[in-house]
Amino acid sequence: MSTDNPSAAARHVPEDLPDRIQHYIDGEHVDSLDGATFGVLEPVGNTTYLQCAAGSAADVDRAVQAARRAFDEGPWPRMLPRERARVLNRIADIVESRDKRLAELESFDSGLPITQALGQARRAAENFRFFADLVVAQADDAYKVPGRQVNYVNRKPVGVAGLITPWNTPFMLESWKLAPAIATGNTVVLKPAEFTPLSASLWAGIFEEAGLPQGVFNLVHGIGEQAGDALVKHPDVPLISFTGESRTGEIIFANAAPHLKGLSMELGGKSPAIVFADADLDAAVDATIFGVFSLNGERCTAGSRILVQREVYDTFVERYAAQAKRVRVGYPHDPTTEVGALVHPEHFDKVMSYIELGKSEGKLLAGGGRPAEFGEGNFVEPTVFADVPPTARIFQEEIFGPVVAITPFDSDEEAVRLANDTKYGLAAYVWTNDLKRAHNVAHAIDAGMVWLNSNNVRDLRTPFGGIKASGLGHEGGYRSIDFYTHQQAVHITLGKVHNPTFGKDA
Ligand code: NAD
Repeated sequence: MSTDNPSAAARHVPEDLPDRIQHYIDGEHVDSLDGATFGVLEPVGNTTYLQCAAGSAADVDRAVQAARRAFDEGPWPRMLPRERARVLNRIADIVESRDKRLAELESFDSGLPITQALGQARRAAENFRFFADLVVAQADDAYKVPGRQVNYVNRKPVGVAGLITPWNTPFMLESWKLAPAIATGNTVVLKPAEFTPLSASLWAGIFEEAGLPQGVFNLVHGIGEQAGDALVKHPDVPLISFTGESRTGEIIFANAAPHLKGLSMELGGKSPAIVFADADLDAAVDATIFGVFSLNGERCTAGSRILVQREVYDTFVERYAAQAKRVRVGYPHDPTTEVGALVHPEHFDKVMSYIELGKSEGKLLAGGGRPAEFGEGNFVEPTVFADVPPTARIFQEEIFGPVVAITPFDSDEEAVRLANDTKYGLAAYVWTNDLKRAHNVAHAIDAGMVWLNSNNVRDLRTPFGGIKASGLGHEGGYRSIDFYTHQQAVHITLGKVHNPTFGKDA
């Protein structure tokens, strides 16, 4: 790990930072009905810089009612796809034109390195453009039985979509749900993560400027167990799209069950990166470093377990640890920073406790604690453990920080067995120059997404989602359209009606 010379003077506070943010309901910025707020910390000094409205069930109900009115009476669900697409494209334009400001605020609030926050802001704009294109190009199924029947799908928005999002790359992940939900004609209530509410509060202005009708977008801030819970349990919210921890997903699943709600769940991961001896080691080292240390390691698809074939294990591990030590930890706003500050002191403590545990479970080769240069804030050294047994907790459990476990394997079968040996199944990365092996191993891995000789680069048309404890259902491309719409089948008889007559007049 390397650092600049950090000093308090190097800190950055964005200009015009708000010190209070409200909910946005029915086109108005409002406080909680009971006036409740919660404090939000910035991760570099862990000072409270913002008071955010803390929503209760009553605020959620108000937002759902506004969204319901906009759905039943407003123009949005009835507009042509092209008309909605124009609004979505304007949203994308505005997000792009403000990308630097968005990145600055996101980086300040979440601790993400500024260059990576900027990439996420642009990706958010791209999500709107993509779903604008998709709804215009959308075709639906039609089936004919010659001379007898025509059947077609009448696709309809579902109603009020409840969107619950986590604190890692918050603005981009919100866009990932907002764009398809509104593109398909639904109205929404968004409950963003309480650690990072700042960038979410920018949506209201962006949507107003783009011409989204009043009541289509509603935002209720608050604590998950209060505002999030009320949204999940609200009878007039027929679907919930949730991204967050697997444990929270289980709770939401149970709470949504009595209402038989539509659920899409994108949950935790402990994704393997498998490096075979025949791989391009330069590329594999670079990609697996980036795969776990980018976005501060707070990334659901992080390749946080690296499985390396025995023949190249020592070479790989030596090179990996040396490069990890050179990864630049720094202030989030510094464009040279590669790893910034973790989001919150509670999360910092969790990651640190795993690092302490790792010292007894594996061999510490890089990092291992707080960088000496940063006496405060949630800074963690990029940390590498080698020779980690598969039974170790740091091999099995999601740490969600800049910490990686490396384990050797001998055969393809063992690589697959180790890859599948956790409760998660989100992503996997395979490095080999053997074409058959690449595909066979990819197919044998229990993961929703596999990248072969590639970093995590995703085409927005492809399915996104995990299996096992990593999720339920897939979004991405037309699968998002499927999730946010009903497909009503309409059957028409052509010609004579062939009807068995009951109760025939004898
Ligand atoms: P979290 O589960 O603690 O919180 C996520 C959201 O759920 C927050 O808005 C929170 O307020 C809300 N929430 C909490 N309890 C709730 C409840 N009982 N009812 C309703 N809502 C509730 O997750 P987090 O710590 O914010 O995010 C990190 C996790 O998200 C990691 O596990 C990560 O892997 C996962 N994640 C997954 C993906 C994916 O696509 N698979 C993407 C990003 C993050």
